[in-house]
Amino acid sequence: MRLLIVEDEDVLRAQLVEHFAVNGTVVEEAADGRDALYLGSEFPCDLAIVDLGLPEISGIDVIRQWRQAGHEFPILILTARSNWQDKVEGLEAGADDYVTKPFHLEEVQARVTALMRRAAGHASSQVQYGPINIDTGARTVSREGEAVELTTYEYNTLAYLVHHAGKVISKTELTEHLYDQDYDRDSNVLEVFVGRLRKKLDPGGDLKPIATIRGAGYRFDLERT
Ligand code: CA
Repeated sequence: MRLLIVEDEDVLRAQLVEHFAVNGTVVEEAADGRDALYLGSEFPCDLAIVDLGLPEISGIDVIRQWRQAGHEFPILILTARSNWQDKVEGLEAGADDYVTKPFHLEEVQARVTALMRRAAGHASSQVQYGPINIDTGARTVSREGEAVELTTYEYNTLAYLVHHAGKVISKTELTEHLYDQDYDRDSNVLEVFVGRLRKKLDPGGDLKPIATIRGAGYRFDLERT
């Protein structure tokens, strides 16, 4: 596997490289956004770890440009900042998950493992909810035949609810699934993304594909027609 590590702090980057450059993993490294953009675009990697605060080009812009260019490898962001808006911005740009600094290498490792596993296989099926179609093989969503652009994080949230359609999923369960391990998570982030997901799926607000069950969680109901 090829891993790209983007981090401008030399000591931290060296630690990450040393940790991951084992068992046949090839690690590329970049210390600024310009190099990152080039490496991620020219040399296909299986996963990228990206610090958000970078010289030259910000981590957010790097991620956004990779995604706009159609690169779909999983991206884990590193953020020194603790406020949840930065995490939202990173996830919205197209990252899949985040780790807040300072972190333990084991935590980064756990997230990388989870992202690789998730990228490896999803059973294919088509789910229809009124005009909304969800294709879990292609990982695409459309509404009345028109593509609905979802970030990976939004898609993963939706896919989990769809997979358990008709069942109330607690925020804790959803968060644990999206992050795989029970580290300190922001429930604000989840709420923001469910809100965005609803607006994208149902701009008119009349279909309500994702119900909020007060005090219990969320539920996606398959329309039975
Ligand atoms: Ca930095």
